[in-house]
Amino acid sequence: MMETRANEQELQRRVAELEREVRRLRRERDEQDRMQFPWVGNLGRWEFRLDRNEVFFNEAKITALGYAADYVEQPVPYQFFTEKLHSEDYEHTMQKMRDHLEGRAPAYEVEYRIGTVDGGWKWYYDRGVVTEWAADGAPLLVAGIVFDITEQKEMEAQLRQQNQQLKEMAATDALTRVANRKVLLNQLAAEMKRWKRSAKDLCILMLDIDHFKNINDSYGHVTGDSVLRQTAQLIQDNLREVDLVGRYGGEEFMVLLPETSLGDAVIAAERVRRAVAAAEFSAGITVTISGGLATYRGERLEEFVDAADQCLYQAKNNGRDCIRSPLDASKTGEPQ
Ligand code: GH3
Ligand code: MG
Ligand code: MG
Repeated sequence: MMETRANEQELQRRVAELEREVRRLRRERDEQDRMQFPWVGNLGRWEFRLDRNEVFFNEAKITALGYAADYVEQPVPYQFFTEKLHSEDYEHTMQKMRDHLEGRAPAYEVEYRIGTVDGGWKWYYDRGVVTEWAADGAPLLVAGIVFDITEQKEMEAQLRQQNQQLKEMAATDALTRVANRKVLLNQLAAEMKRWKRSAKDLCILMLDIDHFKNINDSYGHVTGDSVLRQTAQLIQDNLREVDLVGRYGGEEFMVLLPETSLGDAVIAAERVRRAVAAAEFSAGITVTISGGLATYRGERLEEFVDAADQCLYQAKNNGRDCIRSPLDASKTGEPQ
């Protein structure tokens, strides 16, 4: 009896010793791997024993997350890692593993975010394959490598954001932040095409600040610029989301009013005109605008814009601070 216990203890001691040796060898192999494959972000190998739910991994996999190398005793259960996954990546990552284990994918390959000790996120690229099977054909061991791709992901995000900014910059007028002339005219051409297929009216409104030269002359160009910016904002704020406001040139703005009858366009234009006239700009300046409307009849773009310009010209002749449209001409019996 005594002898059996002694044997048992000796066996346990041997097992513990062997486990230590296995761990040491694993660590040594990981180090060799990392020297042999110094790929950017390479965190080393991992192994997942499915029957015992044991994961062995190179320590870099957790030290990269801010844990101490000896934070846990290896092996850990698979859940040790999966419970640290970003909630948006969890399902998809688990599915990737199932797809491989159940033979639907040649490898387990996935990118996910995993939580760091300080509450941040790291992006890992993880790839593994089944390397051992049980006698009944069920997968027994998955071996893989993992990469920290956080920097690449952040760079990608930065590039995407910069691209978006460049796109916006290329589409907007630098001073007034509304659409620039190119975007405006492209959009107008597109709306004219759409008009042909739709039963709805398309109107354009040409707006021009009255006696703007006086503002520059009296207050200087810097103030003039600021009045231009604020006027653009007021025009925008007093129209629908679908109406496109653009800077046509100097102190002239054009507004596209899709699916709008001439009557409704007059109402919208009057609302804008009144808002500008009522606004107080910096240094107590007030300004007025004049506007000309046109409704599309299938003519060429230049002719359509010219029709709005003609009405704007009439508004200026009429004493400014007013809107003129083809409706005024028909009311007074003038030729359209
Ligand atoms: P009207 O009522 O007939 O439109 O008179 P106006 O003075 O507004 O018209 P005019 O065409 O004589 O002058 C337009 C002025 O707009 C002259 C030009 O210096 C000024 N302008 C054009 N673009 C800018 C700009 O980007 N910034 C500033 N500050 N002024 C500008
Ligand atoms: Mg003007
Ligand atoms: Mg002008």
